[in-house]
Amino acid sequence: MNRALNFNAGPAALPEAVLKEAEKNWLNFNGSGMAVMELSHRSKEYQTVHDKAISLLRKLLTISDDFEVLFIQGGASLQFSMVPMNLLEEGQTAQYVLSGSWSEKALKEANKIGSTLIAGSSKDQKYRFIPEYNADIQSNAAYLHITSNNTIYGTQWHSFPSNEKNPLIADMSSDILSRPLDINNFDLIYAGAQKNLGPSGVTVVIIRKDLLNKSPENLPAMLNYNTYASNNSLYNTPPTLAIYLLSLVLEWAEEEGGLQQIQKMNEKKAKALYDVIDESEGFYLGHAHQDSRSLMNVTFNLHSEEASKDFLQQAKEAGFVGLGGHRSIGGCRASIYNAVPPEHVHKLAEFMTTFKNKY
Ligand SMILES: *Cc1c(COP(=O)(O)O)cnc(C)c1O
Repeated sequence: MNRALNFNAGPAALPEAVLKEAEKNWLNFNGSGMAVMELSHRSKEYQTVHDKAISLLRKLLTISDDFEVLFIQGGASLQFSMVPMNLLEEGQTAQYVLSGSWSEKALKEANKIGSTLIAGSSKDQKYRFIPEYNADIQSNAAYLHITSNNTIYGTQWHSFPSNEKNPLIADMSSDILSRPLDINNFDLIYAGAQKNLGPSGVTVVIIRKDLLNKSPENLPAMLNYNTYASNNSLYNTPPTLAIYLLSLVLEWAEEEGGLQQIQKMNEKKAKALYDVIDESEGFYLGHAHQDSRSLMNVTFNLHSEEASKDFLQQAKEAGFVGLGGHRSIGGCRASIYNAVPPEHVHKLAEFMTTFKNKY
């Protein structure tokens, strides 16, 4: 069977090797006579899977013992609420940089919990770039929240604010594991798995242990980071199948050569598409400013709306999946996460060139 040319924004393509490995073990995981999702989450077999996922994350991202690695359900969207519920104390202000729709949603949830402030925004410029942010962070700030990659607008932070004065919190749902990262520059990172880490159903939270002291005691257990931290994310039944697939994706990433190699591959993939856009003399128009471009989501329009429509229609007929822009902004978007093979990206680059020459 031919694998689809899948450019979906999330859930997104998974490495074929991961799916094959999962298939091999589907009915009989490690000789247990059971599928992974039939194992008790209290069994030794499952414990091994769970611990391996955590230790591989620690290794690949170089996460020190100052941090806890947690598995939580509810997607990145639940983190929009859990972050302020746990970390925004009364009398403090949470600062948000608005760089796209997801950061707006994060701010909206924080507003329900406490006092907030917009530290920077590029909203009036259609989120075409990562905004400047106010560096004079208030002394009573609880944290500064950023979205490291803006999945919908196709922009990405290429350097980060310092966390020396205030905790830095990042939604990395769409670019975690795509490049090396200095985890010590952050205090909390969260990422829904379904873009770069695995299937939907599990969200990874990396939290500095110091911050765990801040959670109010009257929080519901399932909304308190401490519940996950003190029970190795096994307080209740975790999404065992999603965590198993996450562990396979992490093994794959390690075999690919780790994050430095993955970054190189991602840079080449992105360049192939951005080069077509830049050399098209205005036929293709990139949405993001060049210095804010994302390596994960390449967003563009064609010179006219009609041409965009034709492009999407013909791309679909040629077998490309998921190239329509997010319903909120339209246009075109190619999501080229870690698992999207370079050959698929090159096929798309060729298709774009051929389409332009024919038009
Ligand atoms: C996809 C995405 C989300 C939402 O994730 P869910 O798991 O669907 O809640 C949040 N933030 C970013 C940056 C995303 O790309």
